[in-house]
Amino acid sequence: MTPLAILTYHSLDDSGSVVSVSPGAFAAQMGAVAECGFRGVTLSEAVEHRLAHGDWPAQRLVITFDDGFANTHEVALPVLARRGFAATVFLITGHVGGRNDWSAPPPGLGTRPMMTWAQVAELAQKGIEIGGHSHTHPDMRRISDAQVEHELAICKAEIHEQLGYEARTFAYPYGSRSERVAEAAGRQFAAACTAVLKRVQAEPLAQLPRVDAYYLRTPKDVVRLLTGRWDSYLTLRRLGRRVRRMFA
Ligand SMILES: [Zn+2]
Repeated sequence: MTPLAILTYHSLDDSGSVVSVSPGAFAAQMGAVAECGFRGVTLSEAVEHRLAHGDWPAQRLVITFDDGFANTHEVALPVLARRGFAATVFLITGHVGGRNDWSAPPPGLGTRPMMTWAQVAELAQKGIEIGGHSHTHPDMRRISDAQVEHELAICKAEIHEQLGYEARTFAYPYGSRSERVAEAAGRQFAAACTAVLKRVQAEPLAQLPRVDAYYLRTPKDVVRLLTGRWDSYLTLRRLGRRVRRMFA
């Protein structure tokens, strides 16, 4: 199966936090994507292609933004529009129009504004897919089955109420899910994303791996990712994370 990269961004700002990519670096990364002949598409578009043809689309990259920071609207949207790229934004519906105070922000980031529904609607009008990222951003492995269902259902219902739009895709908060959580998400959404560090191949649609932009040091790294020259590096980083988790 043609491997597909799904990239994860959170906040586009100059704070240097672990969830931040600078606006300049983001623009350079999108430039590198265009230069090597790839195009950004929504996750739904990629999933529809896989369902119709049994394979991922070639020369495509899925660009995703978690949480719904206001800078997704201010910084990402103009860059994506200039390149003619689509993307998918995963919203925490309970924080739209609020701040990133679902947990203590990482050092350096501070509390920042999230998009308003008017800004989200503008993204949707401009071809950006709006997906779900839960209502309150819990670790979904640590809440009851009933709470998991509630988080998925409220998130989907609010997006529908505000945008008249059926959200088809989801990202697990912290990438954290169990088989039961993935089954529940699979009943509500056509596809759901984890934070497993690799390009997608034959993984189930409810557990699609993603590569966090945190690992991109230079725009050339994007090219390495898209052309497969980064796969062995990602395997090493993935094993490193697993070892660190065992000891920490
Ligand atoms: Zn998140």
